Amino acid sequence: MANSMTRHDSGNNATWTKIIVSKTDYRDIMWTDLLEIAEDHWKWVQAQPGAYTRWESCLVAALFLPSTKGGVIFLSTIPRGSKHTEMMNGARAAPAWFHATTGGTNRNTNLQLHAEDGAEFLFETSPYARGIVSRNLQYVTPDRDNAHSRMKLAVWGRHKTSPAQGESIALCTVSEKQPKCPAVARALNIAYCERYKVRFEQQHR
Ligand SMILES: [Zn+2]
Repeated sequence: MANSMTRHDSGNNATWTKIIVSKTDYRDIMWTDLLEIAEDHWKWVQAQPGAYTRWESCLVAALFLPSTKGGVIFLSTIPRGSKHTEMMNGARAAPAWFHATTGGTNRNTNLQLHAEDGAEFLFETSPYARGIVSRNLQYVTPDRDNAHSRMKLAVWGRHKTSPAQGESIALCTVSEKQPKCPAVARALNIAYCERYKVRFEQQHR
């Protein structure tokens, strides 16, 4: 299946990830197109056994990296099980992400992991991160690929109160996670999807 994802661990400990290279979207991607990719994979993953957390959430975060060789999209569900363990101990594997998500403390005490963290970790531990992770621990894309934008992050899925077909999910603003996903994205120099950005695109098509 074109929209399938790779499973790590099983049952209620399952996490799904995927890396896609897009030849058409390479310098930049529309928010609507990034959301569509997240939605397309969510449709597949939400039907898998154990896809929903005990809080009845199933999310797919999509992180876009511009590259003239083909834009790369990193997809992840909410990290659980072995992927969760790997990420909680991921200071060495993904130092920029770990620094940002722990608020600069590099200590995982009380650290909560969201789907956005999964996508960021997947990127930073991939060969594509080489030359992108700067010395000051930000993700910096080469100007020749991408003069105007940065890496982009969007989430599609369902919380308990969402419609059955899922919806565009804003990065967390009310969760107990500290720092929250928007702050982590800003620390890493990632642009993230917000309702007004999608509206702006739709009005200027
Ligand atoms: Zn979050």
